[in-house]
Amino acid sequence: MLEIKNLHVKLEEEDKQILKGVDLEVPAGKVHAIMGPNGSGKSTLSYVLSGRDGYEVTEGSASLEGQDLLDLDPEERAAAGLFLAFQYPVEIPGVGNMTFLRTAVNAQRKARGEDEMSATDFLKMVREKAKDLKIDAEMLKRPVNVGFSGGEKKRNEILQMAVLAPKMCILDETDSGLDVDAMKLVSDGVNALRDAGRGFLVITHYQRLLDHIKPDVVHIMADGRIIKSGGPELALEVEKNGYADILSEVA
Ligand code: ADP
Ligand code: MG
Ligand code: MG
Repeated sequence: MLEIKNLHVKLEEEDKQILKGVDLEVPAGKVHAIMGPNGSGKSTLSYVLSGRDGYEVTEGSASLEGQDLLDLDPEERAAAGLFLAFQYPVEIPGVGNMTFLRTAVNAQRKARGEDEMSATDFLKMVREKAKDLKIDAEMLKRPVNVGFSGGEKKRNEILQMAVLAPKMCILDETDSGLDVDAMKLVSDGVNALRDAGRGFLVITHYQRLLDHIKPDVVHIMADGRIIKSGGPELALEVEKNGYADILSEVA
């Protein structure tokens, strides 16, 4: 599903190399987690995959179902089936949540040569998914994320994900700032979307999210590279001993 080979990325403005050869393959149907110390390049990886400005790929490749991602605009990446839930979801004053979702869905359908969804069907679909995530109708009418609590923003990200039904979902520290109940809701939302045709890349600082979203593979990222990969037990090891052991073992 997602294939990243030898990805090197530097900042556009500065001569600073951030990703130094990332290799990663997430097959369809699998959940991979990335953990790693602060500043190791986890968010940069998700930004580069989504096509955010400010980064320059100097070497390597990234593809989704064999399609080169790095050549595409952010909108084209989304239409190809890539979705990112951000650590800090953006507020969009003046744009109603429902309008935003409908525009996103129809843009995606258009890019795929499909007809628009009828307003009635769309409303029904969103309401059902919102209910599962305990998002009330009032929140759907408000401007996107404006005045939402941290937990509401994260749930709204998962709602966007559920509505867009992407092929590859990347969640960047979606658990940060969530209390236990909100984390459970977010995890349930993710687990409900687990599917043989869909891949997940879950970036997290904490093992506790991985108690709810059971990953197939855990990767440790440090200094712009994946330095170790293993099963879910790797996350438990990090939780217990921190990164020091793994870092010195690899060094
Ligand atoms: P992580 O998500 O693993 O904490 P980041 O990808 O946020 O790491 O950051 C990796 C490194 O790149 C850090 O040293 C960070 O300061 C630096 N970095 C990332 N983006 C920028 C930027 N736009 N300007 C300056 N430094 C940046
Ligand atoms: Mg960080
Ligand atoms: Mg980060």
